[in-house]
Amino acid sequence: MARTFRIAALAILSLWFGSAGPVSAAPQERPVRAVATFSILGDLVRQVGGSHVTVATLVGPDSDAHGLSPSPADARKLAEADIVFVNGLGLEGWFDRLIRASGTRAPVVVASAGVKPIPAQDEHAHEDGGHGHGDHAVDPHAWQDVANVRTYVANIRDGLAKVDPAHADAYRAAAAAYLAELDALERDVRAAIARIPPERRRIITTHDAFGYFAAAYGLRFIAPQGVSTDSEASPRDVAAIIRQIRKERVPAVFLENISDPRQMQQIARESGARVGGKVYSDALSAPDGPAATYLDLMRSNLKAFDAALMPG
Ligand code: ZN
Repeated sequence: MARTFRIAALAILSLWFGSAGPVSAAPQERPVRAVATFSILGDLVRQVGGSHVTVATLVGPDSDAHGLSPSPADARKLAEADIVFVNGLGLEGWFDRLIRASGTRAPVVVASAGVKPIPAQDEHAHEDGGHGHGDHAVDPHAWQDVANVRTYVANIRDGLAKVDPAHADAYRAAAAAYLAELDALERDVRAAIARIPPERRRIITTHDAFGYFAAAYGLRFIAPQGVSTDSEASPRDVAAIIRQIRKERVPAVFLENISDPRQMQQIARESGARVGGKVYSDALSAPDGPAATYLDLMRSNLKAFDAALMPG
């Protein structure tokens, strides 16, 4: 009943404005309200949506997307959304309950749909007896491979075009321009890694967020915490990591913007590896920081890897 009324009202409105086309092609009066679950995804939606979309994120800059404690404000953002973007691949374990609670009828687009997932890395777990790191079967951090972000962008473009067909051309043009920037980024990543001597391409990070980066670009990452931040690394994990750093002569450990730095500082102290600065794994920096967009995040990480791993 309500739906029939709405369609009738829209039809009358489109007659009123003299539109000859179908109702769905009428321009939106206000920007599309998009919600993205975390800051990196929010930036990608902004890049494609431009001025036709406002983007709210649930997990903001410098915050941990694995572990949101949803608030009523989060449910309200979802309830008011026209479209919702999630990473998928098990990143947002908190999302299903929240979206049900919000009562939203907005379509949910899984940005990683079509990405080939890689299994969760858990290599040092074998070394110290094979305990599990959460229940992650696949690694959710697909955005660390630029090729996967092309898929994200295509899914975002198609999702926006569906809820706002009047601006589909604008979304296609913005996506195409952004894909060209991703091509340039990918060339820079490959060139930067190629400059690092192969035996120095090893890095320690707090949690296993760089599996896709490692698989795509040939840098090896070792992390005490597994692919999720749900559980703390145990003293045994830390001891195993320190042994591994010494054995493999890993040049540098990195602090992530979403994690407590103290453990990595301890690991650096006890292993003799140097602290190679801060890397951005699962979240952007604040807008005035060095990783305010996805492109800046990747370039900032690259600079940190390069600075710490180049000899002399
Ligand atoms: Zn993560």
